[in-house]
Amino acid sequence: TKVPPTILNNGVEMPQLGFGVWQVPDAEAERAVATALEAGYRSIDTAAIYGNEEGVGRAVSASGIAREDLFITTKLWNSDQGYDSTMRAFDASLEKLGLEYVDLYLIHWPVPSRGDFVETYQAFEKIYADGRAKAIGVSNFLPEHLETLIAQTSVIPAVNQIELHPHLQQLAAREFHAEQGIATEAWSPLGQGKGLLEVPAIVAIGQKHNRTPAQIVLRWHIQLGTIVIPKSVTPSRIKENIEVFDFSLDTEDMAAISALNEDRRIGPDPATFDPS
Ligand code: NAD
Repeated sequence: TKVPPTILNNGVEMPQLGFGVWQVPDAEAERAVATALEAGYRSIDTAAIYGNEEGVGRAVSASGIAREDLFITTKLWNSDQGYDSTMRAFDASLEKLGLEYVDLYLIHWPVPSRGDFVETYQAFEKIYADGRAKAIGVSNFLPEHLETLIAQTSVIPAVNQIELHPHLQQLAAREFHAEQGIATEAWSPLGQGKGLLEVPAIVAIGQKHNRTPAQIVLRWHIQLGTIVIPKSVTPSRIKENIEVFDFSLDTEDMAAISALNEDRRIGPDPATFDPS
């Protein structure tokens, strides 16, 4: 399967569908990522806090796939925010991944109570200018955080990775991102699988197209224009989740899924989340 690219605001091409590895232990990450790469995924989403950058790096290195054909994202953890600590944390991530550059580096959470995200992003701008990240962006930023960031820095974030699935459709954030030229990337695109994949409307659309509920939800994201990074460690599901480019949902299907919005988060609220 060939995944079409999303063109980021600096011209970099990011596969619209990638593989997420949150909660995959380092020892399992190598096998899971290898399975994903074999299935055709070329984009991998990890983070320093996931503790599996080494496993991801081993799979990438063993795959023999040319570096320029891969798209590797990692994220800076909250306790490393600040200019110098960001520089050190970035070096550590590159070292663990065994890479000379990442394709996308994200601030994992804004943690507004720390008041450090502007300074942190200035370090990101330096990393970007040095070519050690091909694109830089953020995760879990609310529009108000993006406004502060954009007013005080010069590189518009390429991406904001936020919780987004049919129960939390993030209409205001998506509209704001579109106005600013920021690509929206969905984390927990399947709503972590819990409940969402049993919703009758989604099951029915799956039966109509002879597809699984996970494929229907991922296809809905793709047609909205969102970047998705579904996670699984089960080989059959890893393969299933990328097989979403050979069918389309019609207007009625899209509307039925869009009607499921409940503005309900699974994860924490970025305005107040402050773990270190
Ligand atoms: P997800 O929505 O991708 O759901 C994953 C779960 O859904 C799996 O563990 C499995 O239980 C189930 N599942 C997956 N494929 C399935 C299939 N085909 N059929 C049935 N069930 C299936 O949830 P996620 O892992 O939370 O999110 C995806 C990725 O997003 C993460 O791995 C991580 O890379 C990223 N993420 C980022 C943040 C952030 O703060 N930036 C937070 C959470 C997740």
